[in-house]
Amino acid sequence: MSGLTRIARRINPGSVRMFSCSAVCQDTPTHTGQTFDENDVRNVRFDVTGLKKQTNTQWAIDLIAKVPPKKVNKRVVSCDGGGGALGHPKIYINLDPSGPQSCNYCGLRFELEHGH
Ligand SMILES: [Zn+2]
Repeated sequence: MSGLTRIARRINPGSVRMFSCSAVCQDTPTHTGQTFDENDVRNVRFDVTGLKKQTNTQWAIDLIAKVPPKKVNKRVVSCDGGGGALGHPKIYINLDPSGPQSCNYCGLRFELEHGH
């Protein structure tokens, strides 16, 4: 007995042929590892519409890591996330520790240019 049949019986015990499903939907785990159980009633929407569950494969932490550190010649820099409505509160970042330092809000990295 498929998972959908069990769901259909749970919803309407008198009818086991409310809809048909030829294959059990394969669920892609999210970045936190969550998936729908095979018997989860939320799977019905994908079986009925024939659509697949959309899972984001581009995580923000990976995307921001691809942005190269911005070289600056000051020991203290400020970041406001680009300003405007899409920015964040302005913070100051100390670049005295070696290596690139990242903004706590947006993750942009800044690095002190050598020779200054
Ligand atoms: Zn920032």
